[in-house]
Amino acid sequence: MSRFLSNRYASLVPYTPGEQPKALNVTKLNTNECPFPPSEKAQAFARAHTRPLNLYPELQCIDLRTKLAELHGIKPDNIVLGNGSDELLNFSFMAFCDGEKGAAFPNISYGFYPVYADLNHVPVHEIPLREDFTIAPEDFFGLGRTIFIANPNAPTGMALSPAQVETILRANPDNVVVIDEAYVDFGGETCIPLIKSYDNLLVVQTFSKSRSMAGARLGFAAGDEALIRDLNAMKFSINPYNVNSMTLALGLGVLLDEETTRANCRTIMENRAYTVAELEKLGFSVLPSCANFVFAATDRIGGRDLYLRLKERGVLIRHFDMPGIRNYNRITIGTKEQMDILLQNIREILEG
Ligand code: PMP
Repeated sequence: MSRFLSNRYASLVPYTPGEQPKALNVTKLNTNECPFPPSEKAQAFARAHTRPLNLYPELQCIDLRTKLAELHGIKPDNIVLGNGSDELLNFSFMAFCDGEKGAAFPNISYGFYPVYADLNHVPVHEIPLREDFTIAPEDFFGLGRTIFIANPNAPTGMALSPAQVETILRANPDNVVVIDEAYVDFGGETCIPLIKSYDNLLVVQTFSKSRSMAGARLGFAAGDEALIRDLNAMKFSINPYNVNSMTLALGLGVLLDEETTRANCRTIMENRAYTVAELEKLGFSVLPSCANFVFAATDRIGGRDLYLRLKERGVLIRHFDMPGIRNYNRITIGTKEQMDILLQNIREILEG
């Protein structure tokens, strides 16, 4: 750090993203991207409808918000867009937490939550997962804190039902509950319909996974109009043009081609079932996943060792060097071909 860095950030430990190698000749199963590009139809729409790039983006992002609202049966004023859902999570920490109003989230969850808490000087209460890696809703009752839950959770892939989330909402009427649905399209059930009944619910989703747009950076938050006004206050105090014109046009193009999104999700869920079955044949235990990744461990090789040996062979998966999950790896579900490359390499490593 330079001698000029503010004391406010002297102890900040930034988030470590998964590796993003420049070369594309690796089997990349480490950051839960979609293996399929946006459809030709969506890309053609974006080419035809991107606002001239010499102009700033349209401030209200009204076309995309209107289409999202229509898809989810809510109003455009229930929605705010972000530069990826990460940005909206940070806005939520800024808007709904402070030194007195702390945050609570599971101890094994998305690694950005503790970083955003730290960045915003928010005290944190980490709630341990149960022995079987599940989130017990009752552990989140009446905490007096802003709650962040990834649902499905990452890196476990395990999901709560909307009815279970509802118990948490009811038990925390005076606190915001943020449900991060980055992976909801692969077998989970969205809580967006509940925003009509619960003014303390904020649901955050991303276009990075099921909608093939990780590189374009687009996410949205849905909630009561008052919550959305608060998030807009953050957005308009930092960067009103947080979503660029190319991304806005592509996002709308992708939403106008929902069939492709649905078909891609079905393919990934089929490939997930295949991968789980093959990993189990090799002696792995795999947590039940509702996401586009699986979390798997075996007694036959250590988690870090497997990650490193696969990396030597050009296959990237994600290892988290954290107590309780050191033996596990998180493996993104890609195409059938990618999964066969992974499985063949694991077989060779275990046999060698
Ligand atoms: N939430 C969870 C649980 C995630 O795993 C991710 C992806 N790293 C995000 C949010 C953020 O995704 P993005 O910023 O690409 O929308």
